[in-house]
Amino acid sequence: MPTKKPKRGSAKSRGSPPPTRPGGTIQARRKRAEKIIAGLRKLYPDATCALRHDDPLQLLIATILSAQSTDETVNKVTPVLFGRYPTAADLAAAEPAEVEKIIYTTGFFRNKTRSIIGACKAIAERFGGQVPQTMEELIELPGVARKTANVVLGTWFGKNEGVVVDTHVGRLAHRLGLTWTSKDEKDAVKIEQDLMQVLPQPEWTFTGHALIWHGRGICQARKPKCLECTLNKLCPAAFTFEPSGGGKPGKKRPK
Ligand code: SF4
Repeated sequence: MPTKKPKRGSAKSRGSPPPTRPGGTIQARRKRAEKIIAGLRKLYPDATCALRHDDPLQLLIATILSAQSTDETVNKVTPVLFGRYPTAADLAAAEPAEVEKIIYTTGFFRNKTRSIIGACKAIAERFGGQVPQTMEELIELPGVARKTANVVLGTWFGKNEGVVVDTHVGRLAHRLGLTWTSKDEKDAVKIEQDLMQVLPQPEWTFTGHALIWHGRGICQARKPKCLECTLNKLCPAAFTFEPSGGGKPGKKRPK
């Protein structure tokens, strides 16, 4: 039998989530999300960005450097970088080869150097050396996408304009049933849009950081520790992984 086309303008035709899916309706997800946030608040009351910084410029640059790297590696590099180039104007005028030498260990050092110098030039020339405070202005800077902008806006300026979606948040959003995207979805912006529908706005920044902490410590990619996880009663993916790890779905949920 041919499948019926959704009516123009209907929820389905606008790409809205279907009423039921693993993880439930949007109302069910919102309810569960509130409980998940309460659980995360108990586990990580102080969850915040682990990148060391003293001002918004340092946070912006550290976040650019953290792509495909670890916070630990970035935290070793940034004191040297900011000691040598303390202001946006200093970095805007830096020799790329000098910057590359300092940030080399964070990986993708040529691209990152281009982004850092380009962003600092724009900040020095267009914003008087001050990091802009709106999403629109931040994502205009070279090398700055929504994730970096969300880190700076949420962590430094206290503005909940979006949810930070890195690899941990993307993975946990799927496991905890907080996104409608497929589990192979790589587009962080699509996952972020779902999270912004499901999470209360005042919790956007906290939840992003807390999910990163939970992803690092408990809900790791290859071997999620579902037995230890205090969110397991709220998690549609709990105990669905092979005991040998690998992050692959298994079959049994313990009684
Ligand atoms: S129950 Fe398992 S899969 Fe779900 S959040 Fe916890 S560790 Fe991750």
